[in-house]
Amino acid sequence: MSRSPEVYKLNTHELARRAGEMKIYELDIQTPEKVGVELISVPVGEIIEVDARLESVTEGILLTAEIFAVAKGECTRCLDPISVDIERKIQELYYYAQKAERPKKKKPVEEDDLDVEDELMMEGDIMDLEGPIRDAIVLALPINPLCSDQCQGLCQQCGGKWADLPVDHAHEVIDARWAGLSGLELPEADFKN
Ligand SMILES: [Zn+2]
Ligand SMILES: [Zn+2]
Repeated sequence: MSRSPEVYKLNTHELARRAGEMKIYELDIQTPEKVGVELISVPVGEIIEVDARLESVTEGILLTAEIFAVAKGECTRCLDPISVDIERKIQELYYYAQKAERPKKKKPVEEDDLDVEDELMMEGDIMDLEGPIRDAIVLALPINPLCSDQCQGLCQQCGGKWADLPVDHAHEVIDARWAGLSGLELPEADFKN
C-alpha cells in the first residue's frame, strides 16, 4: 500500500467492475500537509475540491476530475501576500492489480523503471489520488508568483515598496571610500585650531 495520507484515498467499492459503469464523486480533501512548491502552495488545512467521474474500463478505472483549490504565497518582487485560484482538469487510468503480475516484457532496465513509475495502480478498491492531485496543482502554479505583472517590487536601498513610495524617492549615493567613515565620531579636539 502507498504511504499517502488517508484523505487522498478514494474507496471505489460502489463502482461496479463492468466496463461502461460510471460513478460521480464529489470530494473535499482537507490537506494534511501543504501542496505546492516552496514559494507558493495550498496551505495545511485548506480544502482541495475534487469533482471526479470514475468509469470502469477493461484494464482498470478511468478517473476524470476537476480540481479546485487556492494556493497562497508571496509576491517574489514586493513580498505582499498573494493567492492564486487553481482550476485544473486531469484524466488518469488506474490499472487493476493483476496487471502487475503479467510477465514483464524484456526491456532495458531504465526504461522499465520509468514505465512502472508512470502507471497508477488500484490498491484493491482504493484509488490513491495524491500523486495526480499534487502534480496538477504544482503544474498550475506560477513559477514566479507576482501580485501583478506591473509590480515594481522594493527599493533596494531601504526595502520600501515602490508602489507606496513617492515618485521622486531616492537615496543619496555615498562614495564607497567615505561610507566607512560616516559612522565615526571624531574627537571634538580635532575641530579646534
Ligand atoms: Zn508585488
Ligand atoms: Zn528607498
